[in-house]
Amino acid sequence: MKTYDIIVLGGGPGGYVAAIKAAQNNLKVALIEKEVVGGICLNHGCIPTKTLLKNAKVYKTLNHASDYGVTIDGKIGFDWTQMMKRKNLVVKKLTTGVAGLLKKNGVEVFNGLGNVVAKDKVEVNGETLTCKNLILATGASPIVPPIDGLKEAYEKGFARTSREMLQIEEAPKNLVIIGGGVIGVEFATIFSSLGSKVTIIEKLNGILPMMDDDIRTQYTKILKKDKIDILVNAEVKSVKTDKVIYHLDGKDHEVKADSVLISVGMKANTKGLEELKLKMERNAIVTDDQLKTNIDHVYAIGDVNGKYMLAHVASHEGIVAVENILGHDKNMNYGRMPNAVYGSPEIASVGLTEKELKEKGVKYKVSTFPLLASGKALADNEKDGFVKLLVSEQYKEILGAHILAYNASDLIAELGVTMELEGTAYEVANTVHPHPTLSEIIMEAAHGAIDKPIHI
Ligand code: FAD
Repeated sequence: MKTYDIIVLGGGPGGYVAAIKAAQNNLKVALIEKEVVGGICLNHGCIPTKTLLKNAKVYKTLNHASDYGVTIDGKIGFDWTQMMKRKNLVVKKLTTGVAGLLKKNGVEVFNGLGNVVAKDKVEVNGETLTCKNLILATGASPIVPPIDGLKEAYEKGFARTSREMLQIEEAPKNLVIIGGGVIGVEFATIFSSLGSKVTIIEKLNGILPMMDDDIRTQYTKILKKDKIDILVNAEVKSVKTDKVIYHLDGKDHEVKADSVLISVGMKANTKGLEELKLKMERNAIVTDDQLKTNIDHVYAIGDVNGKYMLAHVASHEGIVAVENILGHDKNMNYGRMPNAVYGSPEIASVGLTEKELKEKGVKYKVSTFPLLASGKALADNEKDGFVKLLVSEQYKEILGAHILAYNASDLIAELGVTMELEGTAYEVANTVHPHPTLSEIIMEAAHGAIDKPIHI
């Protein structure tokens, strides 16, 4: 029987990073993956959506070529099949790269469904492997909610989760998206940029509930300006073959659809884990801040523990779990996980929202700075958005940072580092930012937090 220091179940960004980290520390590691390494993120999530978003953005920009003094003779069109081909090529390149990294680091990869028969035994392809530690990184799958007609529509391929939507053969003309979370909004951006009529139906009183309210309000306006219909406080009642019926303001209404995207949440993948009798809450495995489950030497990382369904969090949890197996006594600090929405523009945030600060009774100061006052934003013709810094009243420590801007996801890391160092607006303001760059808006907002910004 083959014995390992660690068996990692699931080869997504949680599992494969944990496996590499453990192997780099001279542990004997097996990784079991039933599909292709890279998980949802590389194969059916982060990377395919970002590739399609870029395709859609190029198309949209070309349609506004005259804004840049560029003339185009003839009609601008797009070829969906070619767009999907580019997406598949990017995915293949990255998943092949991950397979290569696992090999290079000496991780033994088993391609098959892992079935945990005991906390130290996993069966795969008829073979039993044993281990000292088990890391569960099996991810999560989209929920298909119990809405009249939805299950049938899903089985017929009219309603799709993000996974099937990323295999669609042509862009829909009328897309209805159930759920205004990150995934819903990203698909709305892709297809509306390509000319689809997109309607988002959201049960809550606004889209992107985890984001700061000022950012959500501004972002909603931008999406509406892009002709995306956003129906909030609206509940989908039934899904028919060519329309969706929803309830809003005390009445039933209908919206035409030739495709429906289901994006209302995820539940942990626990197939093959049944024997473990893991403690579960709200469709996820319960873990502590060291990623330990209720069973000794069994860890759960990434989407399967339902804490933050983000690839970079899964990877970091993988590293923290391995550090704990190595005896380094490391905790997650979930208060510093960055969030991003990759629309047009993007949203990124780290730390607390203003609403959370109010709920906690923290004394804080707000400083904002708009893209309109940035030379780089104007040069790039990307004027929508602003940065909002939330700092403690007394010491001006950064408590939260929220950015709405065309490359917000790249900008946010600076504020994550500042928070990690328990830095204040003084350090950010005193750090000279290159000109012209969009990063200057962060420096300006920091000046605003301690005194006044220069350029407004
Ligand atoms: P997964 O990536 O789900 O990997 C789990 C793996 O385990 C899978 O490969 C699965 O096949 C395998 N597995 C499951 N059970 C077994 C078993 N019993 N035996 C063997 N193998 C098994 N996050 C971001 O941070 N940024 C983004 O831009 C982003 N975009 C997204 C877009 C979409 C459309 C979606 C759906 C998600 C997106 N996410 C994004 C979320 C991100 O994909 C997940 O948070 C991340 O993939 C979680 O990693 P994981 O390792 O926990 O699980």
